[in-house]
Amino acid sequence: MLHPFITFLLSFIFYTLDLDKFEINKSHASSILILPEKRPHLTNYYNYSLGTINDMILKEGGKTIGKIIKQNIKKNENLHLFLKRVGFENKLINAITLKIKSDYPSIKILRNIPTNHRIYYAIPKNNLGFGINFKISKFKDLYVWQSNSNEIKTKITKRPFNQINLLNKVEIKDNLYNSAIRNKLPKEIFSELIKTLGFSIDFQRELRKGDVFETLYSQKIDLITNEIIESNPIHYISANLKDNNLKFYKFTTKDGKSNFYDQDGKSSQKTLMKTPLNGARLSSGFGNRKHPILGFTKMHRGVDFAAPVGTPILAAGDGLIEYSGWNGAYGKYIRIKHNGTFKTAYAHLSKIYKKTGTRIKQGDIIGALGNTGRSTGPHLHYEILISGKQVNPLRIKLPSGKNVPKNELEDFYKQQQIINRKIFAMRNKIKNNEFANLKNLKNN
Ligand SMILES: [Zn+2]
Repeated sequence: MLHPFITFLLSFIFYTLDLDKFEINKSHASSILILPEKRPHLTNYYNYSLGTINDMILKEGGKTIGKIIKQNIKKNENLHLFLKRVGFENKLINAITLKIKSDYPSIKILRNIPTNHRIYYAIPKNNLGFGINFKISKFKDLYVWQSNSNEIKTKITKRPFNQINLLNKVEIKDNLYNSAIRNKLPKEIFSELIKTLGFSIDFQRELRKGDVFETLYSQKIDLITNEIIESNPIHYISANLKDNNLKFYKFTTKDGKSNFYDQDGKSSQKTLMKTPLNGARLSSGFGNRKHPILGFTKMHRGVDFAAPVGTPILAAGDGLIEYSGWNGAYGKYIRIKHNGTFKTAYAHLSKIYKKTGTRIKQGDIIGALGNTGRSTGPHLHYEILISGKQVNPLRIKLPSGKNVPKNELEDFYKQQQIINRKIFAMRNKIKNNEFANLKNLKNN
């Protein structure tokens, strides 16, 4: 198998990862041989998609078709009902669906096509044949048509795509969420960024105007429609804050697990999270005047996070629920014992999802943010306790999760260098573009 990073290096690649799964399903369905099976013939599979069903018929041979029409699947409609609605005859519909079922018994979408899924078709009339094609996944199309001798033909193809790398820089103007949206950082990339950095950053208190977040990620562009099919994966995340500079590189260790590690190969994950809720839902990154959002002081032995009531509260680390229930001024309250040293507590919750004595994993949803007990507005009051005493979460250094294994560090450093070079080149390109734009402006 290709090293995942080689895949990253190729700026123009085609997606083939699903291929194996398909072959296995197909061969299982067609026979029950115990002897090693011959690999199924791939001539019916995985050429690249063409612009239309018409192009496919021209290429593969078959009856000429008429005008191609596009229509969406209606609610509770399967392919059978769809074809009936748009005017195919019963006998042909039965033959088409039977053929698809026998050719691809294990493709789920063919049994249950989602509402609004787009189908392209041409109705058979006079001497013209029929044609049908639609997407069966982000990366695959199904074509169905008829040969000159009226035999039904099917073919599954890969959609051709282009993979490009993007370097996105978000500078905070008001709050992180709005700034990310303005900078067109894709949603899924933003939420992975928040999740990754939530271990090391207190998103309520640590962000300032001018802080910079940088993300290197890939996007797959469909070459037929020019649409973005997928924004993934992230190769690199950095946060440049006033007192906290972080850089994380995605790396896949030999056991097949992908995680983020800092420059030295230390895991981005810590035993406890600094922000134990979705940082994107915080009411404001900074300067919030509506709620008295307190940091850690002598009088206030925890930190507050303001977010809408109902925001899921996450277990900051693995452990055992030591107390779960009403706790005076704390309102609805949960305390988790993580080990002999660390505990965390969560107060003013609106809902509690885990009972005393429950074992939980880091990131499990344990409750919902609320305004119970002595609270002046919806917020989470969060405490980290060391040997029973509340400590300032901003100040303590927490042990990190599983680091890059020693014997894989060399690979990790090599990959890090390649990413750094890439980022350097992309930053220069951005700069040069800005410079060129500036020059153009002046010349105008
Ligand atoms: Zn508080």
